[in-house]
Amino acid sequence: MDKNATYKKLVEEAIKMLNFSYVPYSHFHVGAALLTTEDEIYTGCNIENSAFGPTNCAERTAFFKAISEGKKTFKAIAIVGGPNGIIKDFCPPCGVCRQVMREFCKDDFEIILGKSPDNYIVKTLKEILPLSFGSEDLEK
Ligand SMILES: [Zn+2]
Repeated sequence: MDKNATYKKLVEEAIKMLNFSYVPYSHFHVGAALLTTEDEIYTGCNIENSAFGPTNCAERTAFFKAISEGKKTFKAIAIVGGPNGIIKDFCPPCGVCRQVMREFCKDDFEIILGKSPDNYIVKTLKEILPLSFGSEDLEK
């Protein structure tokens, strides 16, 4: 599959996840589709909580599903979102999710921000998380 077809497929899978978002408080649905280096896709949605702190983002849901099944190397993640599940603009990952990506992904990990399967932009982790802190910094 060429890269554009892969991006399109990931955005399609992320859009499907908007239906599963549990967002009774913000009504802001987010879906994510994470691609492993073995070309498997793990999806996620955001899951809110009345206590707010336990809320989990779609991106971390996808990562934790994959990691809990033994996957630790990743190529890309597509992210979509919008109020009431309607995509109006790109939905960039929050800072917490960027740091989770940093734990498991290299600088060239691709973040695909989609408005539709045919309208998306691709950024690298290094671009969206410059001057980041990672495990190697613990040894300096
Ligand atoms: Zn997040």
